[in-house]
Amino acid sequence: MSKWVNKEKFEDFKKQREQEESQSKNDVDYARLYPNPKMGSQGKPKEYHLRLLTDPNGDFYKKCMYHMFKSGDNWVFIMCPKTHDMDEYCPWCHATQILYKGSSSDKKKAYSYKRKEKYVGNVFVVKDPRDADENDPDKMLKGKTFLYGFPQTVETLIRKEITDVENGWGYAIFDPEDGYNLIVSIGAKKPDKDGKVWPDYSLTTFAKKPSAIADTEEKIEEIMSTCQDITEYINNSMLSPEVHEKLLKSEMLWDDVCDVFVKKMKTMDEEVDRTALDNELTNTNSDEQSADKTSESVSENKSSNADEAKDNVDDDLGSVDDISDEELLAELDNF
Ligand SMILES: [Zn+2]
Repeated sequence: MSKWVNKEKFEDFKKQREQEESQSKNDVDYARLYPNPKMGSQGKPKEYHLRLLTDPNGDFYKKCMYHMFKSGDNWVFIMCPKTHDMDEYCPWCHATQILYKGSSSDKKKAYSYKRKEKYVGNVFVVKDPRDADENDPDKMLKGKTFLYGFPQTVETLIRKEITDVENGWGYAIFDPEDGYNLIVSIGAKKPDKDGKVWPDYSLTTFAKKPSAIADTEEKIEEIMSTCQDITEYINNSMLSPEVHEKLLKSEMLWDDVCDVFVKKMKTMDEEVDRTALDNELTNTNSDEQSADKTSESVSENKSSNADEAKDNVDDDLGSVDDISDEELLAELDNF
């Protein structure tokens, strides 16, 4: 090290830079999320070998509802309050309902704001095709745990493995020592009538042979200790009424929902305890960050983000939760 540079100060500075770098890779700064796996092509799917793991509370995975749409140049992700309970009030679901009853252009907007679903759980990455382009072993995805948000189509396969008592692997799909990898296979469907190519998860399967995620019990324990609390992730992702209000205003939806919003969400606000307040503070930052980061990656790789957006819409097509979805899609087809 040169006499012109203070070594200690440099090490501190390096740490700061590294921290910032690792933060910029996540959508949110409080969770380590698995970067959305990209799809391969027709007849040449990409395979992601993962082991599903339980979180520190022993929880497996949970269903999350969210809204994701493009606001200006940024993608906005909003965890839907209905994730907690379908009876909770969500201004975005409310706005979608109102827009759906409106003009054709309102209906189109309703389609972009509408509620979507995914499942979130911990995974250990055994093999990821993206590592092939990475020279730095520290930056590889392999050998690390992440929270993975996967679509309904993948959950259906996992559920079958869990509930099929005769042929399913049962709890062994979550066993780090003597368990079975989930092999997420993402190909491409034939282009639809508009020329859009949708991801095809149909070859996703579980490994036929069991394996351990590490050679020793100690190493397995070390890996398990890096799993993230799913409930905490969901709670931390909830926006405060203030942030909802700000976003609704910027989307010109505030006037439509404000009456009910003030009644339902402001009361909620008064009931918040100290922890929730702390979370809100974190969320205000992370929300803005999240939107920023997403826009960064949009400019970085437009096509893959378009895929992601397609993924999300596609996942949604598979949803049986909303009967109105089909009606909405039928309407949209007429445009
Ligand atoms: Zn909602």
